Parts: sequence; structure tokens; C-alpha cells
Amino acid sequence: MRNPQLNRNGELTHLLSIEGLPRAVINHVLDTAASYAPLAENEVKKVPLLHGKSVFNLFFENSTRTRTTFEIAAKRLSADVYNLNINASSASKGESLLDTINNLSAMQADLFVVRHASSGAPHLIAQHVAPHIHVINAGDGRHAHPTQGLLDMYTIRHYKKDFTNLTVAIVGDVLHSRVARSDIHALTTLGVPEVRVIAPLTLLPAGMESLGVKVFTDMAEGLKGVDVIIMLRLQNERMRGALLPSAQEYFKHYGLTQDKLALAAPDAIVMHPGPMNRGVEIDSSVADGKQAVILNQVTFGIAVRMAVMSIVAGA
Ligand code: ASP
Repeated sequence: MRNPQLNRNGELTHLLSIEGLPRAVINHVLDTAASYAPLAENEVKKVPLLHGKSVFNLFFENSTRTRTTFEIAAKRLSADVYNLNINASSASKGESLLDTINNLSAMQADLFVVRHASSGAPHLIAQHVAPHIHVINAGDGRHAHPTQGLLDMYTIRHYKKDFTNLTVAIVGDVLHSRVARSDIHALTTLGVPEVRVIAPLTLLPAGMESLGVKVFTDMAEGLKGVDVIIMLRLQNERMRGALLPSAQEYFKHYGLTQDKLALAAPDAIVMHPGPMNRGVEIDSSVADGKQAVILNQVTFGIAVRMAVMSIVAGA
């Protein structure tokens, strides 16, 4: 079956997930983003690539960084951006997702940026819209968060240059994390030789090894010698029942403190997709410390989202 994100020429037309994306497509996004990054230093930060196009931000779940950086990215590409206030829209009156999309398409939408609590919602929309409309997944359930995955790869490439000699650890609530899934697909596609996941058994999905990762339940063992640490937030909103004794207990075993960070390579970088829960998965001294690149990830996210939007729109 053809990858629904790629057109007949193998070009990206929607971004729904990193799974199944060829390495060349990922590298093209990263290279394009690198060409946009210097724009941030200019007095005029805009390019006219999406001039006259209408971008609709549809966030059915909360967001700070992703929604705002998509808006900034679209504006830097000179698009017109419409942020739907979902709570005040007819979705809250029972309108179906596809009826909402039909109505916005009737307003000449060119690009939908969609975040939804249901895995697969952006995929459904992409199958439904007219061929000239593009869909970007901004996070669907626990399935995928491809632009976060791509900005994480951009960040790693920026600091570490080469993917093929790295050990990367992803730590925490892997079970509920769409970021973990997108990062794992991206890292393995880019040729990272060792991807580790570190989590308590209750927060590990079954069959992780089949994704090409090494599983650790002991934080000290898993962090030994790693070059990159990606911390994950405990996704309390997606937990059903008690999967953990308490936040304090979790912090004791899996919270990233200076002591635990010292087990990684001396030049290891610390990443987190945000929002951070200080004192739960990460200690403040690490979050604000010299090895943290967490706010740089946010900045890189603008160039990466510009790249994704301009590429899918064929600009
Ligand atoms: N902001 C990321 C997401 O939307 C990570 C998180 O919420 O923990 O998946």
C-alpha cells in the first residue's frame, strides 16, 4: 500500500507520522529547516513562500509550544493563520470532525494543522480532504507527534553532528508518549546504532524490542555512557488506574538529577518536549543546567515547522 503521506513522486504531501518516512525525506526536512534558521536573526523574519495561503490551526487538545510555534512558522512563511477556538466552536455542539473539516474547506483552507486526543484523527482528515489540501499532525493521542520528532532530530544533529555514532536514551512514560514513538522511528531511520528506553515496567508498552530499542528498567544502568537523554512527562491525563506508587517514588527512581546525569557521557545533552514537571521527571538543577537544551528545542521547532509546512505545500 502506498504511504498516505507521500504523493506519486514520493514527495511529502501530508505529515502524519514518522513511521515509514524514508531517511531522505527526514533529511530533506532537517536541511530545509537549517536554511530557515538564520531568518530568526534578520530584522524582517519573513519569506513569501506561503503568501496568500490559509493555514487553520485545529487544536482539540491543549498545547503551548506546538500551537504557538506553528503559528509563528506559518506567519514567517507569510501565510494567513486562523486559530480555531475549539471550545467555542460547533465541535462542542456535537458537530462531527469531518463536518468541521468540510466547513473549513469551504472557507478555502489550504493547510490543516491538527492535534486530537484520538489516534488516527489527522490520518482520517487527510484521507477525506481534496487533493490540494495538506494535513499536518500536531499530536494524535498516544500515536505520533511527528514535528516534535523532527525538531528533536534537528536538535540532536545540531549538537552531535552525526547520528551514526550515538547512544540515545528515552526516559519515562513511554507507554503514553507519542513523542517517544516518533523519536524512536526517527532515530532508528537515521541510523542511530543504540536507542534505549528506560522506564518502570508499568509504563513500557509490550514489544518495544521489535522497534529496535534496548529496554532498561534501571535508570543508572540505562544512562551509562549515553550521548543524548530525552526525558518524557508523566502523562497523567492518559493514565487509567494507578500505574505508579507516587510522584515522589517515581522521582526517586526515574527523575533526572545531577547524580544520575553524571552517569551519562560528560558532554551528554538533556532534552524534554515540555511541558516539564519539575521534581517529578526532572530536577530543576538539571532542567536549568548547562547540559539542558530544552529551550533550544523550542526555538528550533519554528524552523522545523516552517520546513514541514513549505515542503508539504510544495512551496
Ligand atoms: N507536548 C508533548 C505532546 O504534546 C509532550 C507532552 O505533552 O508531554 O505530546
